[in-house]
Amino acid sequence: MSERWLEGKTALVTGSVQGIGLAVAKALGSAGARVGIHGIASPEQVEEAEADVRAAGAPETRFFDADLTDWTTIDPMMDAVAAWGGADILVNNAGIQKTVSLAEAEPETWNAILAVNLSSAFHTMRRALPVMAERGYGRVVNIASVHGLVASVNKAPYVSAKFGLIGLSRVAALEYAAVGSRETGGVTVNCICPGWTETAIIEPQIQARAALHGGDRTAGIADLLTEKQPSRRTSDPSEMGAVALWLCAPASHNITGIAVPVDGGWTAQ
Ligand code: NAD
Repeated sequence: MSERWLEGKTALVTGSVQGIGLAVAKALGSAGARVGIHGIASPEQVEEAEADVRAAGAPETRFFDADLTDWTTIDPMMDAVAAWGGADILVNNAGIQKTVSLAEAEPETWNAILAVNLSSAFHTMRRALPVMAERGYGRVVNIASVHGLVASVNKAPYVSAKFGLIGLSRVAALEYAAVGSRETGGVTVNCICPGWTETAIIEPQIQARAALHGGDRTAGIADLLTEKQPSRRTSDPSEMGAVALWLCAPASHNITGIAVPVDGGWTAQ
């Protein structure tokens, strides 16, 4: 397999202006994929993300705009992606998080987290999968979480959305399992389940723990890791990129319907 084995393929990565999404976009670009960038960002941040992904090796990038809290923006985005060539690879990565007890969570919080972390994947997959089936190759990689496999307190909307995302992915995996061949690569649908990974989304939780240690950020991170992640090491976003790239390989044609924990042993406990 050449290093540029995704040449000629197009990927859409939601929430790829930063964090895990940007790292996945760079990994796919490094193997030669054209990459559709998406997310909520300033024009400068979009420009920077596109430049990063092209520097990683993507022959072409394009920014797609859609606020995923509003599902009616998703069909127009998928129309634009179709006009650009259609997605051979779809990575549903965009996500939001808020830690709050079930009783204190506002209905607006529930609706927003479910919309971005779960429903958006339904809306993108229902458009992308039939096109992948026609081509005989397709990869859907949904960025779930350890919280799609186990629960924690004060995360009712997030845990519900991530468990739902794994269920949605398994249904899609079964519906498309028989499509294509070893030669074309087939159509697979899988989840990656990160544990603590160094991005902006966990910053409020780091700050809350740091506050218990006189504002010491390092002690706050160590505290979070000790509680849940036996490796006591955070993940770097690029490590999620490496797993996503592996799932997209032709040799991964029979890996479908799985949820891969990248969690330092969190869910082994
Ligand atoms: P992040 O906050 O850096 O990135 C989130 C991305 O989602 C951003 O690009 C943002 O623009 C996009 N986004 C948020 N709201 C949106 C909206 N309404 N419409 C469109 N895009 C929107 O965080 P991250 O850690 O890179 O998160 C990526 C994914 O990884 C999320 O699904 C998250 O739940 C999951 N995850 C992260 C961790 C971790 O420890 N960082 C652990 C488990 C799962």
